[in-house]
Amino acid sequence: MNSMLNADLHCHSTVSDGTLTPEALAERAKANGVELWALTDHDEVGGQQRALEAARSQGMKYLTGTEISVTFAGQTVHIVGLGFDHHNTALINGLRRTRGGRGERAQEMSEGLAKVGINGAYEGALKYVGNPELISRTHFARFLVEAGVCKDTPEVFRKYLTEGKPGFVPHRWARLQDAVQWINDAGGIAVIAHPARYSFTPNEEYALFTEFKTHGGRGVEVVTGSHSAQEAARYAETALEFGLAASRGSDFHSPDESHTDLGALPWLPGQLTPVWELLADRIQ
Ligand code: AMP
Ligand code: MN
Ligand code: MN
Ligand code: MN
Repeated sequence: MNSMLNADLHCHSTVSDGTLTPEALAERAKANGVELWALTDHDEVGGQQRALEAARSQGMKYLTGTEISVTFAGQTVHIVGLGFDHHNTALINGLRRTRGGRGERAQEMSEGLAKVGINGAYEGALKYVGNPELISRTHFARFLVEAGVCKDTPEVFRKYLTEGKPGFVPHRWARLQDAVQWINDAGGIAVIAHPARYSFTPNEEYALFTEFKTHGGRGVEVVTGSHSAQEAARYAETALEFGLAASRGSDFHSPDESHTDLGALPWLPGQLTPVWELLADRIQ
Protein backbone atom coordinates (compact mmCIF):
# COMPACT_ATOMS: atom_id res chain seq x y z
CA MET A 1 0.00 0.00 0.00
CA ASN A 2 1.19 3.46 -0.78
CA SER A 3 0.17 7.08 -0.68
CA MET A 4 -1.52 6.80 -4.10
CA LEU A 5 -4.52 4.89 -2.83
CA ASN A 6 -7.95 6.42 -3.31
CA ALA A 7 -8.84 6.28 0.38
CA ASP A 8 -11.72 8.38 1.67
CA LEU A 9 -11.69 8.11 5.45
CA HIS A 10 -14.12 10.87 6.45
CA CYS A 11 -17.79 11.29 5.54
CA HIS A 12 -21.27 11.46 7.10
CA SER A 13 -24.53 9.59 6.60
CA THR A 14 -28.13 10.05 7.79
CA VAL A 15 -26.96 8.41 11.04
CA SER A 16 -25.44 11.84 11.86
CA ASP A 17 -25.67 14.99 9.70
CA GLY A 18 -25.26 13.63 6.18
CA THR A 19 -28.17 13.39 3.75
CA LEU A 20 -27.34 9.99 2.20
CA THR A 21 -27.77 6.56 3.79
CA PRO A 22 -24.67 4.42 4.42
CA GLU A 23 -25.70 2.28 1.43
CA ALA A 24 -26.05 5.28 -0.91
CA LEU A 25 -22.68 6.62 0.25
CA ALA A 26 -21.00 3.27 -0.41
CA GLU A 27 -22.45 3.22 -3.92
CA ARG A 28 -21.33 6.79 -4.59
CA ALA A 29 -17.86 6.15 -3.17
CA LYS A 30 -17.44 3.10 -5.39
CA ALA A 31 -18.67 4.99 -8.47
CA ASN A 32 -16.13 7.74 -7.70
CA GLY A 33 -13.25 5.25 -7.59
CA VAL A 34 -12.79 5.01 -3.82
CA GLU A 35 -10.68 1.93 -2.97
CA LEU A 36 -10.71 2.18 0.83
CA TRP A 37 -13.63 3.80 2.61
CA ALA A 38 -14.64 4.76 6.17
CA LEU A 39 -17.97 6.20 7.31
CA THR A 40 -17.25 8.60 10.20
CA ASP A 41 -20.56 9.75 11.64
CA HIS A 42 -20.38 12.31 14.45
CA ASP A 43 -20.29 10.78 17.95
CA GLU A 44 -21.93 7.60 16.72
CA VAL A 45 -21.06 4.11 15.46
CA GLY A 46 -24.67 3.05 14.81
CA GLY A 47 -24.13 3.05 11.03
CA GLN A 48 -20.95 0.95 11.03
CA GLN A 49 -22.46 -2.47 10.43
CA ARG A 50 -24.53 -1.15 7.51
CA ALA A 51 -21.52 0.66 6.05
CA LEU A 52 -19.32 -2.43 6.37
CA GLU A 53 -21.90 -4.60 4.63
CA ALA A 54 -22.53 -1.99 1.93
CA ALA A 55 -18.78 -1.68 1.28
CA ARG A 56 -18.54 -5.45 1.06
CA SER A 57 -21.35 -5.66 -1.48
CA GLN A 58 -19.65 -2.93 -3.54
CA GLY A 59 -16.35 -4.82 -3.41
CA MET A 60 -14.67 -1.93 -1.57
CA LYS A 61 -12.27 -2.20 1.38
CA TYR A 62 -13.55 -0.74 4.63
CA LEU A 63 -12.25 0.72 7.92
CA THR A 64 -14.64 1.44 10.79
CA GLY A 65 -14.88 5.14 11.63
CA THR A 66 -16.35 7.88 13.80
CA GLU A 67 -15.73 11.60 14.40
CA ILE A 68 -15.78 12.52 18.08
CA SER A 69 -16.56 16.04 19.30
CA VAL A 70 -14.03 17.16 21.92
CA THR A 71 -13.62 20.41 23.86
CA PHE A 72 -10.01 21.62 23.96
CA ALA A 73 -8.85 25.07 25.12
CA GLY A 74 -12.42 26.35 24.86
CA GLN A 75 -12.96 25.22 21.26
CA THR A 76 -14.59 22.23 19.65
CA VAL A 77 -12.05 19.89 18.06
CA HIS A 78 -12.97 16.80 16.05
CA ILE A 79 -11.09 13.55 16.54
CA VAL A 80 -11.58 10.88 13.90
CA GLY A 81 -11.28 7.28 15.06
CA LEU A 82 -10.44 4.61 12.48
CA GLY A 83 -10.12 0.81 12.47
CA PHE A 84 -11.62 0.14 15.93
CA ASP A 85 -13.95 -2.65 17.06
CA HIS A 86 -17.36 -1.01 16.69
CA HIS A 87 -18.84 -3.41 19.28
CA ASN A 88 -16.48 -2.13 22.01
CA THR A 89 -18.64 -1.27 25.03
CA ALA A 90 -16.48 1.52 26.47
CA LEU A 91 -16.42 3.29 23.09
CA ILE A 92 -20.18 2.87 22.59
CA ASN A 93 -20.89 4.20 26.11
CA GLY A 94 -18.45 7.10 25.74
CA LEU A 95 -20.09 8.12 22.47
CA ARG A 96 -23.56 7.86 24.02
CA ARG A 97 -22.46 10.25 26.79
CA THR A 98 -20.98 12.59 24.20
CA ARG A 99 -24.28 12.65 22.29
CA GLY A 100 -26.21 13.35 25.49
CA GLY A 101 -27.24 16.97 25.88
CA ARG A 102 -27.69 17.55 22.14
CA GLY A 103 -31.49 17.61 22.57
CA GLU A 104 -31.36 20.25 25.28
CA ARG A 105 -28.77 22.25 23.35
CA ALA A 106 -31.06 22.17 20.31
CA GLN A 107 -33.99 23.53 22.37
CA GLU A 108 -31.77 26.38 23.56
CA MET A 109 -30.60 27.07 20.01
CA SER A 110 -34.23 27.30 18.99
CA GLU A 111 -34.95 29.77 21.82
CA GLY A 112 -32.02 31.90 20.70
CA LEU A 113 -33.31 31.93 17.12
CA ALA A 114 -36.85 32.77 18.30
CA LYS A 115 -35.44 35.90 19.95
CA VAL A 116 -34.44 37.19 16.51
CA GLY A 117 -37.80 36.30 15.00
CA ILE A 118 -37.11 32.81 13.65
CA ASN A 119 -39.82 30.59 15.10
CA GLY A 120 -40.24 26.83 15.13
CA ALA A 121 -36.58 26.09 14.41
CA TYR A 122 -36.41 23.06 16.73
CA GLU A 123 -39.39 21.40 15.03
CA GLY A 124 -38.07 22.49 11.64
CA ALA A 125 -34.62 21.02 12.29
CA LEU A 126 -36.15 17.77 13.56
CA LYS A 127 -37.60 17.11 10.10
CA TYR A 128 -34.04 16.71 8.82
CA VAL A 129 -32.82 14.51 11.65
CA GLY A 130 -32.18 10.85 10.80
CA ASN A 131 -31.02 9.83 14.28
CA PRO A 132 -33.02 11.28 17.20
CA GLU A 133 -29.89 11.29 19.41
CA LEU A 134 -27.98 13.33 16.90
CA ILE A 135 -29.62 16.66 16.28
CA SER A 136 -26.86 18.98 15.08
CA ARG A 137 -26.32 22.51 13.85
CA THR A 138 -26.36 21.14 10.31
CA HIS A 139 -30.03 20.17 10.68
CA PHE A 140 -30.87 23.70 11.84
CA ALA A 141 -28.92 25.09 8.89
CA ARG A 142 -30.98 22.99 6.44
CA PHE A 143 -34.21 24.22 8.00
CA LEU A 144 -33.12 27.88 7.83
CA VAL A 145 -32.33 27.47 4.13
CA GLU A 146 -35.73 25.80 3.57
CA ALA A 147 -37.43 28.66 5.47
CA GLY A 148 -35.73 31.16 3.14
CA VAL A 149 -33.80 32.83 5.97
CA CYS A 150 -30.47 32.22 4.17
CA LYS A 151 -29.44 31.11 0.69
CA ASP A 152 -27.17 28.25 1.79
CA THR A 153 -25.84 26.48 4.87
CA PRO A 154 -22.48 28.33 5.09
CA GLU A 155 -24.46 31.59 5.29
CA VAL A 156 -26.59 30.14 8.11
CA PHE A 157 -23.46 29.21 10.06
CA ARG A 158 -21.93 32.63 9.47
CA LYS A 159 -25.01 34.58 10.54
CA TYR A 160 -26.70 32.35 13.10
CA LEU A 161 -24.84 29.28 14.31
CA THR A 162 -21.30 30.28 15.22
CA GLU A 163 -19.89 31.80 18.42
CA GLY A 164 -21.63 35.03 19.35
CA LYS A 165 -24.54 34.51 16.91
CA PRO A 166 -28.20 34.10 18.04
CA GLY A 167 -28.49 30.34 17.50
CA PHE A 168 -25.12 29.44 19.04
CA VAL A 169 -25.14 27.59 22.35
CA PRO A 170 -21.75 26.72 23.87
CA HIS A 171 -21.42 23.04 24.64
CA ARG A 172 -18.97 20.90 26.59
CA TRP A 173 -18.05 17.81 24.58
CA ALA A 174 -15.75 14.90 25.48
CA ARG A 175 -12.21 15.42 26.81
CA LEU A 176 -9.36 14.92 24.34
CA GLN A 177 -7.77 12.18 26.43
CA ASP A 178 -11.06 10.30 26.76
CA ALA A 179 -11.82 10.33 23.03
CA VAL A 180 -8.28 9.11 22.21
CA GLN A 181 -8.47 6.43 24.87
CA TRP A 182 -11.86 5.09 23.73
CA ILE A 183 -10.50 4.72 20.20
CA ASN A 184 -7.18 3.18 21.29
CA ASP A 185 -8.82 0.77 23.74
CA ALA A 186 -11.12 -0.39 20.95
CA GLY A 187 -8.04 -1.20 18.83
CA GLY A 188 -8.21 1.79 16.47
CA ILE A 189 -6.16 4.89 15.85
CA ALA A 190 -7.07 8.50 16.65
CA VAL A 191 -6.63 11.26 14.06
CA ILE A 192 -6.96 15.04 14.47
CA ALA A 193 -9.63 16.06 11.95
CA HIS A 194 -9.23 19.09 9.61
CA PRO A 195 -6.71 21.00 11.80
CA ALA A 196 -6.88 24.15 9.65
CA ARG A 197 -10.53 24.63 10.63
CA TYR A 198 -9.77 25.61 14.23
CA SER A 199 -8.84 29.11 15.33
CA PHE A 200 -6.16 28.31 17.87
CA THR A 201 -3.17 30.51 18.58
CA PRO A 202 0.17 28.89 17.62
CA ASN A 203 0.71 28.01 21.29
CA GLU A 204 -2.71 26.40 21.64
CA GLU A 205 -2.24 24.43 18.44
CA TYR A 206 1.15 23.22 19.67
CA ALA A 207 -0.51 22.16 22.94
CA LEU A 208 -3.24 20.30 21.02
CA PHE A 209 -0.73 18.27 18.98
CA THR A 210 1.56 17.69 21.98
CA GLU A 211 -1.23 16.53 24.30
CA PHE A 212 -2.80 14.46 21.53
CA LYS A 213 0.53 12.61 21.11
CA THR A 214 0.94 12.21 24.86
CA HIS A 215 -2.50 10.63 25.13
CA GLY A 216 -1.69 8.16 22.34
CA GLY A 217 -3.04 9.92 19.24
CA ARG A 218 -1.34 8.74 16.04
CA GLY A 219 -2.63 10.62 13.02
CA VAL A 220 -3.68 13.92 11.48
CA GLU A 221 -5.83 14.73 8.47
CA VAL A 222 -3.61 16.35 5.88
CA VAL A 223 -5.68 16.05 2.70
CA THR A 224 -9.33 16.87 3.44
CA GLY A 225 -12.23 18.64 1.78
CA SER A 226 -11.71 21.30 4.46
CA HIS A 227 -8.09 22.13 3.46
CA SER A 228 -6.66 24.22 0.66
CA ALA A 229 -3.46 22.98 -1.04
CA GLN A 230 -1.48 25.38 1.17
CA GLU A 231 -3.14 24.06 4.32
CA ALA A 232 -2.45 20.47 3.26
CA ALA A 233 1.23 21.37 2.74
CA ARG A 234 1.35 23.06 6.12
CA TYR A 235 -0.14 20.08 7.98
CA ALA A 236 2.09 17.68 6.06
CA GLU A 237 4.96 19.51 7.81
CA THR A 238 3.13 19.25 11.14
CA ALA A 239 2.65 15.50 10.63
CA LEU A 240 6.40 15.09 10.09
CA GLU A 241 7.26 17.38 13.02
CA PHE A 242 5.06 15.40 15.43
CA GLY A 243 5.68 11.96 13.94
CA LEU A 244 2.02 11.48 13.02
CA ALA A 245 0.59 9.39 10.21
CA ALA A 246 -1.48 11.23 7.62
CA SER A 247 -5.12 10.72 6.70
CA ARG A 248 -7.22 11.65 3.68
CA GLY A 249 -10.98 12.24 3.61
CA SER A 250 -13.58 14.37 1.84
CA ASP A 251 -15.83 15.13 4.86
CA PHE A 252 -18.68 14.63 2.39
CA HIS A 253 -22.14 15.40 3.85
CA SER A 254 -24.50 15.90 0.91
CA PRO A 255 -24.52 16.15 -2.89
CA ASP A 256 -26.20 19.56 -2.52
CA GLU A 257 -23.90 21.00 0.14
CA SER A 258 -20.44 19.48 -0.12
CA HIS A 259 -17.96 20.98 -2.54
CA THR A 260 -15.67 17.94 -2.27
CA ASP A 261 -17.25 14.71 -3.45
CA LEU A 262 -16.33 11.28 -2.09
CA GLY A 263 -12.86 10.28 -3.25
CA ALA A 264 -12.33 13.53 -5.19
CA LEU A 265 -9.19 14.64 -3.38
CA PRO A 266 -5.48 15.17 -4.12
CA TRP A 267 -3.11 12.32 -3.21
CA LEU A 268 -1.40 12.30 0.14
CA PRO A 269 2.11 13.77 -0.11
CA GLY A 270 4.49 10.85 -0.70
CA GLN A 271 6.89 11.49 2.20
CA LEU A 272 4.16 10.89 4.81
CA THR A 273 3.09 7.61 6.41
CA PRO A 274 -0.54 7.00 5.39
CA VAL A 275 -2.81 5.99 8.29
CA TRP A 276 -3.79 2.88 6.31
CA GLU A 277 -0.25 1.58 6.70
CA LEU A 278 -0.76 1.54 10.48
CA LEU A 279 -4.17 -0.07 10.00
CA ALA A 280 -3.31 -2.81 7.49
CA ASP A 281 -4.64 -5.57 9.77
CA ARG A 282 -7.86 -3.65 10.53
CA ILE A 283 -9.02 -3.30 6.93
CA GLN A 284 -12.13 -5.38 6.24
P1 AMP B 1 -22.55 20.29 15.81
O1 AMP B 1 -21.85 18.97 16.05
O2 AMP B 1 -24.02 20.21 16.11
O3 AMP B 1 -21.88 21.43 16.50
O4 AMP B 1 -22.47 20.57 14.24
C1 AMP B 1 -21.21 20.61 13.61
C2 AMP B 1 -21.38 20.39 12.11
O5 AMP B 1 -21.82 21.58 11.50
C3 AMP B 1 -20.06 20.07 11.42
O6 AMP B 1 -19.79 18.72 11.47
C4 AMP B 1 -20.34 20.51 10.01
O7 AMP B 1 -21.04 19.49 9.32
C5 AMP B 1 -21.29 21.67 10.19
N1 AMP B 1 -20.59 22.97 10.08
C6 AMP B 1 -19.81 23.56 11.00
N2 AMP B 1 -19.39 24.76 10.57
C7 AMP B 1 -19.93 24.93 9.33
C8 AMP B 1 -19.88 25.97 8.35
N3 AMP B 1 -19.19 27.10 8.57
N4 AMP B 1 -20.55 25.79 7.19
C9 AMP B 1 -21.25 24.66 6.96
N5 AMP B 1 -21.34 23.65 7.84
C10 AMP B 1 -20.69 23.78 9.01
MN1 MN C 1 -20.94 17.42 10.15
MN1 MN D 1 -15.53 17.85 11.62
MN1 MN E 1 -16.86 15.54 9.48
